[in-house]
Amino acid sequence: MIDFRVGFGYDSHRLEIGRKLFIGGIEIPFHKGAVAHSDGDALIHAICDALLGAAGLQDIGTHFPDNDDQYKNIDSKRLLVKTKDLILQRQWTINNIDATVVLEEPRLSPFKEHIKRCLADLLGVDGDRIAIKAKSNEKMGDIGRGEGVAAFAAVTIGKQ
Ligand code: MG
Repeated sequence: MIDFRVGFGYDSHRLEIGRKLFIGGIEIPFHKGAVAHSDGDALIHAICDALLGAAGLQDIGTHFPDNDDQYKNIDSKRLLVKTKDLILQRQWTINNIDATVVLEEPRLSPFKEHIKRCLADLLGVDGDRIAIKAKSNEKMGDIGRGEGVAAFAAVTIGKQ
């Protein structure tokens, strides 16, 4: 019998002029970036929360508290690898990840393949198990005004 789990994650960060913008482990050239304790990579944070949730391991803030100095300005790719290790230690296999980034600008379509490959390499899964979608917010609300970025992720994991 296969134990099969679904996880869901959400994250958002404010954007400010003069900061770096990281999405899915890739630095995106833009004049604004995320305000955060870490590097503010909302996509990776949403994926971490989805993986942890699926495995019944609470959330990213439990494992990597934002008041802990060892995580200050941390590269979120390291958080993703640490999360993967927690999942694999419990014999889970990552089946697939389906994620959406909501960002008014810049358009992420030129970066989606690069993001997918980066995440697949970090997680040790085939690229066809990861889907990255990007949407604008159609100029509505805070994200529509370019004040922030949000990401949603659904994952499935399984074990024998
Ligand atoms: Mg975050």
